[in-house]
Amino acid sequence: MAAAIIDGRRLAAQVRSECRERVQALVSARITPQLAVVLAGDEPASRIYVQNKLKACEEVGVASTLHALPHDAAEEDVLSLIRALNADPHVHGILVQLPLPPQISAQRVIFTIEATKDVDGFHLYNVGALAAGEPTFAPCTPQGVMRLLDAAAIPIEGQHAVVVGASNIVGKPMAMMLMRRHATVTVCHVKTRDLRAHTLQADILVVAAGRPGLIKADMVRPGGTVIDVGINRLPDGSIVGDVDFAAVATKAGHITPVPGGVGPMTIAMLMLNTVEAAAAQSKFRRTWQCSEEWHAQNADLQKAR
Ligand code: NAD
Repeated sequence: MAAAIIDGRRLAAQVRSECRERVQALVSARITPQLAVVLAGDEPASRIYVQNKLKACEEVGVASTLHALPHDAAEEDVLSLIRALNADPHVHGILVQLPLPPQISAQRVIFTIEATKDVDGFHLYNVGALAAGEPTFAPCTPQGVMRLLDAAAIPIEGQHAVVVGASNIVGKPMAMMLMRRHATVTVCHVKTRDLRAHTLQADILVVAAGRPGLIKADMVRPGGTVIDVGINRLPDGSIVGDVDFAAVATKAGHITPVPGGVGPMTIAMLMLNTVEAAAAQSKFRRTWQCSEEWHAQNADLQKAR
């Protein structure tokens, strides 16, 4: 039996359309959500990612500014730019495209972003808030995965979820989000012994390792849900995930394709976080990192979701 395909493109279009409506409501209240994108260096993949994000902004009506710095920019140049964006009341979200050139510490740059403008959810405050089960800006990719699971009506509570990959931007927050929804979570990584023994137990298998063909059909539980986060470019130029899609689709119950699965949802969630940042910041005049006011406001937003 062939797995049902979870269509990320269609769901992402719906989320962007929700965002567009919310942007229109904010604009009527004289608030134009604005995302500042910081790009340092000239890596072709980063340029493409940034262009896609700017295009999504245009589509939903979010204003965007691109701050492009040369590959030899000094760390202090990036930090001063971030401080200026933090202080700019017209900027609601700040995104720094990773990776940064080697002379710049990504950690220092990300931790300089005002937590209330950290629409990628990478600031320590937002990472800690997610770990503590508090409302927060959640990282876009795992947030997109949760929306895909919900849209496909995949049960999460009490299910065994196995996450392959333990990075700060995907694997770890993914595990936290699944735990928040009361799944039993196993996290596997490059040092995990006998990966197959773990993946075979998965009701929900989320793979984010960056290894094409890592997950084969004999590693998947029949009828299970397989979410492929991986994006790998093969020598022939084609894009594939981490899952052997053709074989696994004959065994899984649900599966996401690559491209057209998690990727479009990541950008849609970035739009959602930016709109929520603008809505939250419009409620109080100054943004205070970790303030009670922000916390209470964000809690309301999360309840409304
Ligand atoms: P990363 O390199 O930071 O982390 C990879 C993780 O996978 C590590 O924890 C590593 O231990 C684990 N891993 C590597 N090889 C493994 C193996 N053989 N067995 C088990 N675990 C293994 O990567 P990342 O930034 O988390 O990205 C992972 C993949 O997801 C990449 O292909 C990336 O392009 C893709 N990605 C996609 C989106 C999207 O929007 N769809 C967003 C972010 C990342």
